[in-house]
Amino acid sequence: MSKFFHKSIIVTAPSGAGKTSITRYLMHAFPELAFSVSATTREPRANEKNNVDYYFISLDEFKEKIQKKEFIEWEMVYEGKYYGTLKQELERIWAIDKLPVLDIDVQGAIHVQQQYPLTTISIFIQPPSIDELKKRLEGRGSETAKSLQARINKAAYELSFHHYFENVIVNNDFDAACAEAKKIVQQFIDS
Ligand code: 5GP
Repeated sequence: MSKFFHKSIIVTAPSGAGKTSITRYLMHAFPELAFSVSATTREPRANEKNNVDYYFISLDEFKEKIQKKEFIEWEMVYEGKYYGTLKQELERIWAIDKLPVLDIDVQGAIHVQQQYPLTTISIFIQPPSIDELKKRLEGRGSETAKSLQARINKAAYELSFHHYFENVIVNNDFDAACAEAKKIVQQFIDS
């Protein structure tokens, strides 16, 4: 049996806090990690690949998977846009003896942590401030004015949940945040 069976690492944060960059750093730092590809109903961005960044599926397919209980967790993260972690995806990763890394929203993270409190660690990445977060999201250039505002509103709300998480990293300085995350993951792998 895989030594990582049933274990997982969650990296969560309000959108724009730098969680994807920190997740990428961790994936490079630890060969035993594998990115858990989520299913989503949102449109792919220009640089995104199906089955690599997400499993891009239709709303009908997503609803069918909910009915068949194929998700560990799922959320309507943004208005009408669904995201979920497939049980099959985690099984796939454990089957190749790797440790899944879930890059998911705060509510999803709380749900997974509640279901698997003993085998999951969560790392909450906190942006330095809402203003900084707004700058980062604007810099990304992938949002319309409306979706940008929706992401900022959601981020402000999500920030209030940081106390649900055992590991909170304030992302003032990217290198320092990565070093902190690396230490947490190393301890979990060694445990
Ligand atoms: P984006 O649209 O920018 O790729 O992702 C939006 C948000 O959805 C991010 O916070 C991301 O972490 C989250 N997300 C991605 N996959 C999942 C998932 O499977 N479940 C949940 N609950 N959130 C997810």
